[in-house]
Amino acid sequence: MTRIETARKGIITDEVKEVAVAECLSPETVSSDIANGYSVISRNTKRAITPLGIGRGMRTKINANIGTSKDHISIDEELEKLRLLVKYGSDAVMDLSTGGPIKELRRTLTEHSPVSIGTVPIYEAAVKAVEKHGSVLKMTVDELFETIESHAEEGVDFVTVHSGLTMGAVNHLKSQGRILDIVSRGGSIMLEWMIINNKENPLFEHYDRLIKICRKYDMTLSLGDGMRPGCVADATDRAQVEELIILGKLQKIALEAGIQAIIEGPGHVPLPQVEMNIKLQKSLCNGAPFYVLGPLVTDCGMGYDHISAAIGGAIAGAAGADFLCYVTPSEHVRLPNADDVVEGVIASKIAAHAADISKGIPSAVERDKKMARYRKALDWEGQISMSFNPEKVRAMRAHMPPSQKEVCSMCADFCAIKTVERALHGK
Ligand code: SF4
Repeated sequence: MTRIETARKGIITDEVKEVAVAECLSPETVSSDIANGYSVISRNTKRAITPLGIGRGMRTKINANIGTSKDHISIDEELEKLRLLVKYGSDAVMDLSTGGPIKELRRTLTEHSPVSIGTVPIYEAAVKAVEKHGSVLKMTVDELFETIESHAEEGVDFVTVHSGLTMGAVNHLKSQGRILDIVSRGGSIMLEWMIINNKENPLFEHYDRLIKICRKYDMTLSLGDGMRPGCVADATDRAQVEELIILGKLQKIALEAGIQAIIEGPGHVPLPQVEMNIKLQKSLCNGAPFYVLGPLVTDCGMGYDHISAAIGGAIAGAAGADFLCYVTPSEHVRLPNADDVVEGVIASKIAAHAADISKGIPSAVERDKKMARYRKALDWEGQISMSFNPEKVRAMRAHMPPSQKEVCSMCADFCAIKTVERALHGK
């Protein structure tokens, strides 16, 4: 039985209890939300990691993407990125490798990752097709599904599949026109394959094969948004919404088959449309967990796109998005290095935390109260312990002159906290 089937029978598993404790929810609530598709637990049956709950009433989770490209291949570097993203609190990691020994890297990451791991199998299927046939366009349907199955067998916890990118959505794209057409790498591979071969998307047409693979390992489907807008001017157009409607139908089919699914979302979205996008997804996709890629609220943040994404992520999370995919400062520029990964994770953690305060998640509200109390007490170690990057803050405080050990150099002798303590309490 899959998790959904077990939950439908009213059986509360140890895994559900573990998630319930972590999320300060009752096991019955978690179980019922899994049965109804409002929440998922991302963990392949082959893995022994802490189960990751994503969904209704839960803390907003974040994911960090790592992986090689053809021009930049180092397993050691990717392992270091994994170590750092875990250290700074990412709840999940996606291996998006497209270069070098992809399978070996995935196995190594899966073996070393204490957090949930996701992949986009079409990347590997495309690389293999080029190696075997000389072109991704010659990739066979069987080869695509064999690759997906091999990811599941190796313990991948969730896979992105662009099943909603149908010929219908492509026709919307063609007829309305966009500035940036498609920016999803997996979506673009699928689109070219479909157009040149004049065939429907196999991930849509043979969706039953995906369901069958997921059943075997209780792997979660992350229904990808191949039509996600790549610039704010393209946001919330017919192609994006057409795909979202299809994703909602596919989530329902998965749920009926006992398979967990989350929905991926945009992309680049202007501020006034962020909340509307979340409401639209929740409504069209039956309340399924929403995994947003940013969203970036401006196209011009190059070098600082982690900030554009954190602004969008905080608003999206507050509006009900459940899972934020980080964006690093190197987005749109180059493959992220280890420092970019750290910056991306921290920006995304701040966005998720801000969203959780808005959602009233008790642990988030309490953390800020603790920080405020430490701040009032001028307890620097306490404040540092509540920060998202204690090492950085400690280093910033390291060279304070002795006269400023108690306060800081912002106001020094005019420290407002000290002044008011003295005035009100004579301290
Ligand atoms: S010196 Fe100013 S900024 Fe620094 S702790 Fe006091 S009030 Fe805060």
